[in-house]
Amino acid sequence: MKEVTALGLFSGGLDSILACRVIMAQGIRVVALKFVTPFFDDALLRRQEEYRAGVQEKYGIDVRIVDLSEGYIELLRDPKHGYGKHFNPCVDCKIFLLRRARALMNEYGASFLITGEVLGQRPMSQRRDTLRVIERESGCEDILLRPLCAKLLVETQPEREGQVDRHKLLAFSGRGRRRQMNLAADFGIGQYPSPAGGCILTDPNLAARIEHYYQGRINLAAADLQVNDIRLLLVGRQFRLPDGSWFVLGRDEKENSRIEDLAGEADWLFHMPERPGPTGLLRRAGIRVAGSASEQDVIRACAGLVVRYGRKNKGRIEPGEVLLNRGDEQCMIMAEPLDDALFSGWQF
Ligand code: SF4
Repeated sequence: MKEVTALGLFSGGLDSILACRVIMAQGIRVVALKFVTPFFDDALLRRQEEYRAGVQEKYGIDVRIVDLSEGYIELLRDPKHGYGKHFNPCVDCKIFLLRRARALMNEYGASFLITGEVLGQRPMSQRRDTLRVIERESGCEDILLRPLCAKLLVETQPEREGQVDRHKLLAFSGRGRRRQMNLAADFGIGQYPSPAGGCILTDPNLAARIEHYYQGRINLAAADLQVNDIRLLLVGRQFRLPDGSWFVLGRDEKENSRIEDLAGEADWLFHMPERPGPTGLLRRAGIRVAGSASEQDVIRACAGLVVRYGRKNKGRIEPGEVLLNRGDEQCMIMAEPLDDALFSGWQF
């Protein structure tokens, strides 16, 4: 008999693990798709093999990482179904992920899709009517099976055609976790992530930064938004300088090194060679600041911020030398620490 394959949307949370295992328990091959964007699970792109091996070892699930960064940045501009409590467009997000999963079905020889959604578990995106909207707008009506609550929903094609035994599916609903925990124990799964998600669009502080960026309050044309910008937004201290320039400062060595990694050709980097302190990055300065009337003011402000957050000497913040690296050219600037009162309104 021909092997049946399903593609699973895999967040890595318990519900998605269980959804895969419930279907695998029927002898169906499941390929789990772990979608990543700069807003969730971005770091996995740098350790894909380790992640895949870990999921296989802990849960027996074959997972593939799929990078959706480019399209997702567009989605966030104006999601049709709006945002949740913060900057999280959960309904549009699920539609987007399902569309991408559907587009991958041929490649994996899959005949249907599964998710770990549970009816009524989340107020916005898991109501019965919203589940219908999600499957309809993603083009997945009838091929999207939700194993954890399938018995409460309309029968789908894989159930009707006998690929999946509906009697062995579940009828979970609501916010309680007890049934999921019991089911995990039945599968011999002892350790799993806590339900609190890793999506930064639901984090009040980081979501506010991202919203700030999307609202165009930084001196960048909307068309310029890039994946790398989102990554930079999530590091260190963020400043919008008086001319609208975007400046970022690392708070420790790890962030300094991340900022250096994220620097592009047009970015200018600042640091103090003789004293421990932050690395500063002035985004797209080679295009937006170089040669402008405010160039010298901007450089002074950036150097002053680097000194302000540098290591103190006997409790005092002293003037310091800051090296400005702008591509092929380097120059040393003697800078006074910037007064807190001056830049308090610049941070976002
Ligand atoms: S919490 Fe984040 S990843 Fe999850 S559905 Fe909402 S926007 Fe998407």
